[in-house]
Amino acid sequence: MSVLSNRAKSLKPSPTLAINAKAKSMQAQGIHVISFGAGEPDFDTPENIKQAAKKAIDDGFTKYTPVGGIDDLKDAIIKKFQRDNQLTYKRSEIIVSCGGKHSFYNLAQAIFDQGDEVIVPAPYWVSYPPMVSLANATPVIAETTEENAFKITPEGLQKALTPKTKALILNSPSNPTGSAYTREELEAIGGMAVSKNFFVISDEIYEKIVYDDFKFISIASLSDEMKKRTIIVHGVAKTYAMTGWRIGYTAGPEEIISAMNNIQSQSTSNPTSIAQKASVEALIGPQGEVDKMVSAFAQRRNYIVDRLNKIPGVSCYRPVGSFYVFPNFSSYYGKSFQGKKIENSTHLADFFLEVARVAVVPGVEFGADPFERISYATSMGDIKEGLARIEESLKKLG
Ligand SMILES: *Cc1c(COP(=O)(O)O)cnc(C)c1O
Repeated sequence: MSVLSNRAKSLKPSPTLAINAKAKSMQAQGIHVISFGAGEPDFDTPENIKQAAKKAIDDGFTKYTPVGGIDDLKDAIIKKFQRDNQLTYKRSEIIVSCGGKHSFYNLAQAIFDQGDEVIVPAPYWVSYPPMVSLANATPVIAETTEENAFKITPEGLQKALTPKTKALILNSPSNPTGSAYTREELEAIGGMAVSKNFFVISDEIYEKIVYDDFKFISIASLSDEMKKRTIIVHGVAKTYAMTGWRIGYTAGPEEIISAMNNIQSQSTSNPTSIAQKASVEALIGPQGEVDKMVSAFAQRRNYIVDRLNKIPGVSCYRPVGSFYVFPNFSSYYGKSFQGKKIENSTHLADFFLEVARVAVVPGVEFGADPFERISYATSMGDIKEGLARIEESLKKLG
């Protein structure tokens, strides 16, 4: 008898968390590591949000709440969709879960079955394929190109489609690439979703972290027809520097939301009562802190992209959103350091960690081996020092 289930045996730990753990253990040994591995803002949660949480505790708001979230929070989410996306939802079309990841997990459990195919454009967020597999469905990886800003085209989508396609996952703006879809691009994809009859799962967690004049569009807002076949996965973690609070939410057809509610009722029950109150304040309180964080990210993005593109042999797409860059280092593959050959993104990430003392996440984890993911959710000082270290270390490869 095997101790572990096949399900558990098929999983490996989230690689982004693993890199951060390795960097932290080097730090603990007194080695100064600069971490570009983080998947979370370096800013503190804004004060007004913290106050709302403290008030919830003082008011004794510390008991079970309805499984899918309190009405106050659902109403704040409804207001957010109306205000930001001109989308109208009812309470029965919203569910609050324990983080955006949990929202996606419950959604996958609610709509996927054995035999279903789910199109996942690569580069993808590391957790999509395992969460699709945990729901017994099959992730179908659809490659995109750097030239096309890592976005899936109608032709690319057509190639991945089969009669078994149940859904397409869209993540705009994207983790890890920072690219985002324009209205025209979404219209083309939406047209195919309607004609070929599949769902679009739209992960909009980086909606607010966009630069220059990029205008975020939710694919659900294109038409009533599209709204019916879109499920939006969202959360407060990235916009409000609230990664530890664990509040995510989903908006979509009532039948799906109701099934997610059942799943949640038999597993986690409600997300934390206190964090729910804080999230009401986050979503409908003053939004000024968000603008400040985004303008800091914008400055760092400008610096990091320009700097990376000046390193010989490196090319870096200029992101329009999120807080990552995804530079191509593949011209260094095949070179060696002290007799050890760098053959892929994992070898290069190990080399950066050991020789440059900089932590990055290998592109292969996102389904794109020529690249490394660098998070700029860290100070400008660290960004400058970290890039100098990367550049110096690359000179040692021959
Ligand atoms: C961070 C992230 C999420 C959700 O994060 P939670 O902390 O679970 O709310 C979802 N999708 C992407 C692409 C992310 O980067």
